[in-house]
Amino acid sequence: MKLAPWLDETWRSLSERLQHGRLPHALMLSGAGGLGKRALADALVAAALCESRGGDGYACTRCRSCLLMAAGSHPDRVHLSFEMRDDGKTPRTEIVIEQIRNLSQRLSLSSQFGGMQMAIIDPADRMNPSAANALLKTLEEPSGSTMLVLVSDQPSRLPATIRSRCQRIQINPPGHAQAVEWLRGQGIANADAERALTAMLGNPGRARDALADDTLSLRSECLRDLQALSGHRARALTVAEAWAADRPDQRLWHAAVLVREDAIQLAQGSRGTLGLTGPAEIPKLAAWFAAANRSRELLATQVRSDLVVLDLLHTWQTPRSS
Ligand SMILES: [Zn+2]
Repeated sequence: MKLAPWLDETWRSLSERLQHGRLPHALMLSGAGGLGKRALADALVAAALCESRGGDGYACTRCRSCLLMAAGSHPDRVHLSFEMRDDGKTPRTEIVIEQIRNLSQRLSLSSQFGGMQMAIIDPADRMNPSAANALLKTLEEPSGSTMLVLVSDQPSRLPATIRSRCQRIQINPPGHAQAVEWLRGQGIANADAERALTAMLGNPGRARDALADDTLSLRSECLRDLQALSGHRARALTVAEAWAADRPDQRLWHAAVLVREDAIQLAQGSRGTLGLTGPAEIPKLAAWFAAANRSRELLATQVRSDLVVLDLLHTWQTPRSS
């Protein structure tokens, strides 16, 4: 198992602390999706349970523990994520209290192999409030031989009481050159790598995924729609209905990124792609970027998504006509 190169430094530090028994009782790996947090959590858990780690700190992949790990049946490893609903067909969208109770019960017993007991909670920010509350009790009564690894794309969604009891490791996107090199190593052409990295804010994992699915064409659609709204060739209501019907959250994300890019271009003295004219527009773009992000948060609530999108698109179009 080899982690992405931008995780090298973090890995070295973690494996050194593992070696010296200095890892905390609870660790939180946070950062955007696509940066390899999950692979890092898996590598750490495998290494902690391995019976003959290599010099680089990685698990050996051959010992009894590693073989059980590969088979998904290691008795001292718990992986907590979304379970199936009671109908047995659809997965839940949150981690519930019974899962945390079962986890705590399991961790209160001694380990099967006499070493550590390792648990991953992923995505930790999707624990519902009672699950988070139950986990808090486990975090308050740490046992020497257990370790919890919380994986979270959006740690701000977790209660502060949970966050404060975990040692946090923030994973950031790598520099541009390393991201391009990594994508090229995945067999991706330079121009495609550049295009996808721009669209995905420099996140290499998400750039790779964007090239494999229709993310980039969705972004182009959003660009065309924003241009049409600026130029009054489209009605906000029509566009809002279309956006609300198909992946509104992703569309608002792309729109926010496009607006951010335009603000940067205008600030650099070049003309943006969204039909705006000059640096005087920058404050409006900044305000709209913030509004788009607030609207994305609203999409996660009970508010009707077509109304959220319409509100936002109105504010895009209105200043243009004034
Ligand atoms: Zn091993």
